[in-house]
Amino acid sequence: MGKRKSSKPPPKKVQAKLPKTFDCPFCDHTGSVDCVLERDAGKGTAKCRVCNAQFSTSIHELSDPIDVYTDWIDACELANR
Ligand SMILES: [Zn+2]
Repeated sequence: MGKRKSSKPPPKKVQAKLPKTFDCPFCDHTGSVDCVLERDAGKGTAKCRVCNAQFSTSIHELSDPIDVYTDWIDACELANR
């Protein structure tokens, strides 16, 4: 009988803590923007719970909340030009 390989525990995934709340570009509140990712619908929404400013963008499987937020900031900068 051969030696059974001792089963190793699965390697722990090192997951960096990603921020989920962000600063609102409209009312300047800190951490007032929540991002919701609807991966099934391929849609991401960022919304400020202070001034209700809202932004939706399309997401893909690997999108993170910060990607939605970054898109929002980009859109704001474009609008301000
Ligand atoms: Zn706001």
